Amino acid sequence: MSTVSQNLNFCDSISDRNASSLLCDYKEYFLISSISRKVLEISHKQKTPLIPIVYDIWYNYLKGENQALVRHINQFIESKKPLSLMDLDHIHSEFLDTPDLREKQIADATSSLGGEVTDVLTVIDSHLSKCGDYSESLRETTDTLHKADGLDDIKKAVDCLVSHSESIQSDTEQLRSALNRSREEIESLQEALDEARRNELIDPLTNIANRRALERRLEEMTGSQRSADRDFCVIIADIDHFKSINDGHGHLIGDEVLRYFAGLIHKNVRKEDLAARYGGEEFAIILVGCSVEEAHKRAEIMRSELEKVKLVIKDTKQEVGKITASFGIARYREGDDHLSVLGRADENLYKAKQSGRNRVAA
Ligand code: GH3
Ligand code: MG
Ligand code: MG
Repeated sequence: MSTVSQNLNFCDSISDRNASSLLCDYKEYFLISSISRKVLEISHKQKTPLIPIVYDIWYNYLKGENQALVRHINQFIESKKPLSLMDLDHIHSEFLDTPDLREKQIADATSSLGGEVTDVLTVIDSHLSKCGDYSESLRETTDTLHKADGLDDIKKAVDCLVSHSESIQSDTEQLRSALNRSREEIESLQEALDEARRNELIDPLTNIANRRALERRLEEMTGSQRSADRDFCVIIADIDHFKSINDGHGHLIGDEVLRYFAGLIHKNVRKEDLAARYGGEEFAIILVGCSVEEAHKRAEIMRSELEKVKLVIKDTKQEVGKITASFGIARYREGDDHLSVLGRADENLYKAKQSGRNRVAA
């Protein structure tokens, strides 16, 4: 009978595990909600728009673990200098978007996934071993029944069987809810991982590909795996006198111009091409299977579309004035790596600037 009474407690270890991990979940949940509330307050107080990168900055600022970020932002707050979107974008790239942190974010999500899988296996293991104990004690109880000597013995054995069955049923319930919780946890970790991988290649201000995505694609296209029949051209486009747009209308309008131009080039490339923000007010475009003449034509379409546009500031109805950009083109040459082809496109961009801006040079 001793096995039966031991087994009556056999779901305790799972309950303990659930209780302690639930406690952690709640603690974390309250910490996150309390920081989130403060994010709203500080963002409102500092008059910053609550877009994802800004949320990320305030969240990490309030969490306080990234001391360099805290010190940098405190300097702004102490000097009462308003934080423009450009400042925030730079703060995000400098303190929160570093390769180390991104890799850590991906590594954390990956190892949490691994941890969760180990937890699930432990729960299943323990369930299986308890099912083994259950069969063992069933056998013992059956023996007891065989040797039963009177109604009292039979009643005791049946009582044991009933409580034992209730216990295994409750353990199965515990297992089911632990597995469900793990499945949800794994799904949300998977989403976090996917998002971290997506963010790694997207420019937060303009939402098009970033420099990393561009360089990665160019490395593939020039590396040993390159498909020999796929020629391509690279265009670097740089907005002319962009500094004076910032100076004349402020950085927020400057940011809008960057978003507008990013949208314009993005809609002018095909699915197989790539439009990326190369840095500041510079953009790069990869045109796949494209001759220099064709690339020239397509750059010309973008150039003339931009010079014709009349951007108006919503609040003041003031016109931003004519915006133009210069374009430099380079065609892939045998033996090029990503730097050499970008370098030639940059040289041609320089020529376009030198010969009067608002033009395409190849
Ligand atoms: P050029 O015709 O020779 O290209 O002149 P430019 O004024 O466009 O070039 P310059 O390199 O002198 O200035 C680029 C400016 O772009 C300076 C920098 O403050 C601004 N800038 C860089 N990144 C951002 C950004 O994310 N947002 C805003 N609003 N401005 C930015
Ligand atoms: Mg410029
Ligand atoms: Mg520039």
